[in-house]
Amino acid sequence: HAAVAAALAGTDAPDRVITNPQTVQRLSRDFYWYSPILKALLDDKVAEVVVQPISTDEILRVLATCYGRRIPVTPRGAGTGNYGQAIPLKGGVVLDLSRMDTIESITSEGVAIVGPGVRLGVLETTARVQGWELRCYPSTVAKASVGGFLGGGSGGIGSISHGGLRDFGTVRALEVITMEPQPRILFLEGEAVHEVLHAWGTNGVITKIWLALTPAVEWAQCAIAFPTFEAAFTFSEQIAADDRWTKRLVTTFEWPIPSTFAPIKSVTREGKALIFIMIAASELADLEATATAAGGEITHAAPYTGLRTIPLLSDYTWNHTTLWAMKHDPAFTYLQCGFSPTEARSQFAQLKAKFGVEILFHIEWMKIGTGAVIPGSIPLVRYTTEARLNEMIDFCRSIGVSVANPHSNNVEGGGRYRPDNIQLLTKYRYDPRGLMNPGKMVTFQPAPEMSPKE
Ligand code: FAD
Repeated sequence: HAAVAAALAGTDAPDRVITNPQTVQRLSRDFYWYSPILKALLDDKVAEVVVQPISTDEILRVLATCYGRRIPVTPRGAGTGNYGQAIPLKGGVVLDLSRMDTIESITSEGVAIVGPGVRLGVLETTARVQGWELRCYPSTVAKASVGGFLGGGSGGIGSISHGGLRDFGTVRALEVITMEPQPRILFLEGEAVHEVLHAWGTNGVITKIWLALTPAVEWAQCAIAFPTFEAAFTFSEQIAADDRWTKRLVTTFEWPIPSTFAPIKSVTREGKALIFIMIAASELADLEATATAAGGEITHAAPYTGLRTIPLLSDYTWNHTTLWAMKHDPAFTYLQCGFSPTEARSQFAQLKAKFGVEILFHIEWMKIGTGAVIPGSIPLVRYTTEARLNEMIDFCRSIGVSVANPHSNNVEGGGRYRPDNIQLLTKYRYDPRGLMNPGKMVTFQPAPEMSPKE
């Protein structure tokens, strides 16, 4: 503690070097308990000290100190990650970047230049006032930070039109600090951003972000009930795949998933599948007519007036769906899957035949980097044992359903690892001692004398 505090000497650092055990424990945790497997593995992991820097200069000093003393450092945004990404496995320092929360500017070309601690919701609201909005954001938008989203997230609301964080040059550039004897400040632009994007803070600290926005749209929200999941899937596919609709969200739920949405019972219909869509307000009437003609019942249609809209249908989508289900019944957990755009119906049938109500379909339509629109999915799973969960994962893969395993606590196992190994190769260059969030990139092999202290 003393060494880290000394690194910040001469600043108002005392309140930003936190050793109070309760606070350190709280800031050592994220939403890892979403996974019954990770809960058991990570419950006792805790840092020794939390540091809340307010400048790159302070980060340089903290990292140099930690490098010299072989102290592990785990960056943290808001701690809303689901896989224990921000949980320190080997103690040391949690580097809490929440105080680096300045929106420097939003350029006339629609690029936001921000500190890593800026909350996505604050950026979205600020951008909309200036005629721009986020291309995509997680359903944790109100709390999650921009740096944490880049470090551990992938996509969300908006991905139906703009893909995920990795796609279409959304992350224009990054400023990153390395973990070396003399930490360096690097500027990564274009393809180079992939060196640290979704690397879980294992190979550098993101200290500034250039994030491309998109022109703001007047949105409306719509909920549509269909008698069967098959009918709902077909209708949502038609809307998702057709570029003529201007949309931000197309989500499809199998019944009984909507029965877990306690605060919005009025938009659900007993026994029916449900679709939530965010559509340009000017296209709402057309959507309602199209849905009704296809046999759907419009259960809610209203303007979207920003993140404080009540009800905010997106609060029940992406991984918030899992949260509502777990509140309803703690036996629920989840998977993250990619169904085939052409074989999805047969894949659903095979999964139902083998697992029945153990798996419930929740589809998030999304555009991928090639421009294709696919049925991404965060199905709910009734958890019994790890062996049964692994059986389901193996079966999914055997029938061509990709799985990004959210019950894994390392970058490689999480399913967003890049086949070009770029994050790992970068770790060898920017974090040669393996001190950044150690244990989360398992293919990294530090030289024995370089291992972090146990
Ligand atoms: P943290 O959890 O604090 O950190 C995430 C990772 O990034 C950690 O590995 C951390 O070490 C690293 N990191 C943080 N800051 C930095 C930095 N400055 N430099 C380098 N590394 C850093 N995710 C989605 O992608 N889409 C969703 O729709 C979605 N929905 C969710 C719904 C719920 C209910 C929950 C609990 C989670 C959801 N998530 C989703 C996961 C998570 O909320 C997002 O990925 C979020 O953007 C993480 O932001 P954070 O600030 O909380 O990051």
